[in-house]
Formats: sequence, C-alpha cells, structure tokens
Amino acid sequence: IKSLLRRPDLVRDRAFLGGKWVAAKDGKTFDVTNPARGDVLASVADLSRAEIAQAIDIAHEAQKPWAARTGKDRAKILRRWYDLMMEHQEDLAILMTAEQGKPLAESRGEVAYGASFVEWFGEEAKRVYGETIPGHMPDKRITVIRQPIGVAAGITPWNFPNAMIARKVAPALAAGCSFVIRPASLTPLSALAMAVLAEEAGVPEGVFSVATSSAASEVGKEFCENPKVRKLTFTGSTEVGRILLRQAADQVMKCSMELGGNAPFIVFDDADLDAAVEGAIQCKFRNNGQTCVCANRIYVQKGVYDEFAKRLKVAVEKLRVGDGLSEGTDLGPLIEPSAIDKVRDHLKDALDHGATLLTGGEAHDLGGQFFQPTVVTGAKQGMKVAHEETFGPFAPLFAFEDEAEVIEMANDTIFGLASYFYAKDLSRVTKVAEALEYGIVGVNTGIISTEVAPFGGVKQSGLGREGSRHGIDDYLEMKYICSSI
Ligand code: ADP
Repeated sequence: IKSLLRRPDLVRDRAFLGGKWVAAKDGKTFDVTNPARGDVLASVADLSRAEIAQAIDIAHEAQKPWAARTGKDRAKILRRWYDLMMEHQEDLAILMTAEQGKPLAESRGEVAYGASFVEWFGEEAKRVYGETIPGHMPDKRITVIRQPIGVAAGITPWNFPNAMIARKVAPALAAGCSFVIRPASLTPLSALAMAVLAEEAGVPEGVFSVATSSAASEVGKEFCENPKVRKLTFTGSTEVGRILLRQAADQVMKCSMELGGNAPFIVFDDADLDAAVEGAIQCKFRNNGQTCVCANRIYVQKGVYDEFAKRLKVAVEKLRVGDGLSEGTDLGPLIEPSAIDKVRDHLKDALDHGATLLTGGEAHDLGGQFFQPTVVTGAKQGMKVAHEETFGPFAPLFAFEDEAEVIEMANDTIFGLASYFYAKDLSRVTKVAEALEYGIVGVNTGIISTEVAPFGGVKQSGLGREGSRHGIDDYLEMKYICSSI
C-alpha cells in the first residue's frame, strides 16, 4: 500500500499514545486486511487493557493544560489539522479504500466529510458561550459557564474509518477535553494516519491518542470502569451500545451513542420518480449498504409501485461492482464474510415469505466478499428485513395504500435514526416529516449527512447529537455560579 501513497509514512502499525508511537509491550499485533483482495496491509500493535489504562492516564494529565488554553488557540490547531487532512486527502482516501473496501470516490468524500467536522468544531471552540440569568432574589446573581467534561473515550466502527472518529474527536478537542480513541480493528490505519497529521498540526502530546486493540470488550470495560474517563462516545450497533450503557452505569458516566438504524425510504404517488430512483440508489447502495443511515425498507405507493420497481432495476443493473481502488467502481466488497451471510439471510427469509427477486441475489462473479446488488418486490412487514438492519446491498420494495398506513409501517421499529421520503404536495410533506419518529428526515433527498446539522437518533438509535452547534454540547458540562452580593 505504501507504494501508492505520496506520503508513505502515513501508514503506521504502532499505536499513538501520549505523542509516542508504541508497539504492544508483549509484541502482540493483529492483521489488517484488504477486503477486496484479502492481502494483509499491516500488522498493528494489539494493546492490552493495562496499556489502554496508560493511555487514559496520559490523557488525564494532558487535559487540564489543554482546557486552559483559549478557544482561539485550540481552533488554530484544529484548523491546521483540517488543512493537513485536505492536503493529504488522496493518500487518506487510498488508505481507507485499501482497508475498508469502499470506492475511492466515496473515500475521498469521506475524508472531506471527516475533515469538515475538524474545521467546524475548531470554529465553534471560540463560541462556547455561557449565559447570565436574572437573579431569583434581589441580592443574587446567576452566571452559567460551560466547561469541558474531562477525558473522553471513543469506540468507533469500520464503516466510516475517518469520519466517525472526526465527528467525536473534533468537538471533544474544541471543548477542551482530551480524547482516547479505540478504532475498529478492521480499519485502524485511517485513524493512525489521522494521528500522524494531528501531531503535525500541533495537537499536544496526550490530548489525542489512538489505542489500537483487537480486544474490543476489554477496552470497553476499561473505558467504562476507569474513573479518569468522564465521557464515553460510541458509534456501532444498538446491541453493543446497550452493553456499554450498562457498564457505564456504575460510574454514571456521560454517554453519547450513535447506534443502529432501520431507515424507511418512502415514495409517494406524487413523487418525481427519477429523483426518487436516484435518491434510492445513493441512499441504499452508498458504501455498499453499510451505513447506519442507508435505506433498509423501501415503501412505494401502489399507483407508482410497478414503474418505480422497473426504473430501480435498470439503475441497479448499471452499478459496477469491483475493487474500490479501480476507477469506475460503484460498489466495493462487503467488509467481511459474515456481512454476506446477513444479506443472504435477509434475502432468503424474504423469498421464503413470498417476495420476488427482481435483480441480483447471488454472490458476484468476482468471488470473495463481493455480492450482487439485489432488489426484491413484494416485501412484507413480517419479514426479517422489516425489523433488522441488513447492512448490505439488498433493497426490498414494500407496497402501501395511503399516508396513515405507511407512517405506521415506517415507525414500527425500535430504531429512529434516518428516514426519507419523496413527495411534492406541501401539506403531505409537512405532515409526514412531523409524523416520522426519527432524528433525521430526508425530504426529496437520499443524502443527509453534513457537519452543519445535528446528526443522531431517537428511540433505540441513540443518545446525543454529532455535528452542528449542538455537537459540542456532548463534551461540555454546565455550571451555574450563584453569587450573593
Ligand atoms: P458493527 O456492526 O459496526 O461492527 P459493533 O457494535 O459490533 O458494530 O462494533 C462497533 C465497534 O464496537 C467496533 O469497533 C467493535 O470492535 C466494538 N465492540 C464490539 N463489541 C464491543 C464491546 N463489548 N465493548 C466495546 N466495544 C465493542
């Protein structure tokens, strides 16, 4: 992989702790492989729980001096980090595609998206305003200040190896917290490359550490049980989120959770069908269906059902499956064999319960972890895909009669992250947007992610928000000072 990069030194196999690049004391490593080709890209330091605790100690020491700096000072460093990420966008993208599999164009987009949080929250660092409240008694004055929570620890998944980290570390550092990240062991190289650039940008030693480890549950326990950690931020499945929340309860730790989704994508009779097809393709097949905001259930009103299915089939059959590093690839491989098993499981369940295969349905000729983009018609609420996130290139089309019915079906889930619908009637647009029990609603668009908006879920999709001016709140505590004069 190094030979493809302008800056081969961005590829690191050691963890980044307290400003030092360290191997595990016992020499243990875990392999990072390319999901398109199966070759090993690097053998990365596999830290023990004791070494994770050390990273936390260092972060604890570094936090107060970092918080004591001015917001403007922290902003300058974050701005430099942003500039470096954009300067090395191509290298970071190549590295990401190599370890994660997504097409290079998507990796470039993700690097820019991740970097945008660093830029945004750097700017917000200067605007952590408090408030003054008229006193409740003639001799009382009340001031509210907002202070960093302390050491924050993060655990992130493999589907967005850069952006899921950037969305957390940027507001944390802007607020004056220090941060220890444990990246997914399938994709730690992007995180380590970000650390190389953070160091160059002038992030002080210990303020940002990347603690690589294959022992996810051990790391999770250390993060939750170590009294020096005051804040846990996690992106991943609802299942693991619940485990972490339970563990964090003993210390009453503040938690941000970006968990699973089961996004409905609704096409009404009055929708612009070509736009809806284009939106569905972007929303369902981006990152090969491996995003928590990907459409999982596509509901189409009866009057346009057959026409939408026909046009979607044509669009899906144009998607090119291949190695993400080759230009022109639309869909890369899935991340690991179990991801294919889940797609097959949801597909078989749907077909067993009466769905009809419209296109795809098989492993791709390329073999390995490649799967054909797949569409079925005749999906029903009782099917697995109606209740579980597929996280793969499988698009089931459900039919519905009217607004009331589709809102009930769309909300019939424990999840509440992203939702989408296509319609033109103004009153319908307003009513449906308000009725969907989701943290995010895309209206006539399949792409909703941006650093300027508050991303997050309701119900069992999570706690807290990332991005926008609200995103920094998750790393701040309020304190009111009541003075008697
Ligand atoms: P995904 O489907 O994205 O892999 P997971 O919730 O399984 O979702 O994983 C998200 C992240 O959480 C990964 O980095 C994984 O290694 C980590 N993880 C998995 N189990 C645990 C656990 N028990 N405690 C802490 N982290 C965990």
